[in-house]
Amino acid sequence: MGTITVETHAGIEAVDITDLVVDAIAAGGSVALISIPHTSAAIVIGPGDKGMLADFVAMASGLLRDLRPFQHLQENNANGEAHLLSAMIGSSVLLPIDDGSLALGRWQRLLLLEFDGPATRTIQIRAIG
Ligand code: ZN
Repeated sequence: MGTITVETHAGIEAVDITDLVVDAIAAGGSVALISIPHTSAAIVIGPGDKGMLADFVAMASGLLRDLRPFQHLQENNANGEAHLLSAMIGSSVLLPIDDGSLALGRWQRLLLLEFDGPATRTIQIRAIG
């Protein structure tokens, strides 16, 4: 297992990372933990078509609109909204491994949701069991 790196290119962005993660899954283990060790991004499972990626961006852009402005201000980086989205949506998923590969459903893709980009994001992949 190991670590992969993904470059994001927008403030809010949805990136299909399925192929990168699948390539990092080694034989052995029955469950994969896919975790993003950042406080302003999330990992989700969903359809990976272009329209759905845009829908995730639209959701993240408007979900916390009514709570603005946020009090978390560090230097010039006011990213409290990104932290809240990350905490709400989640920073890891568990998936079964069958015969050395991820057991994903037909429409399931692993998506990185960026809330404070552009950034270089690390994703950790660990086998369990
Ligand atoms: Zn912050």
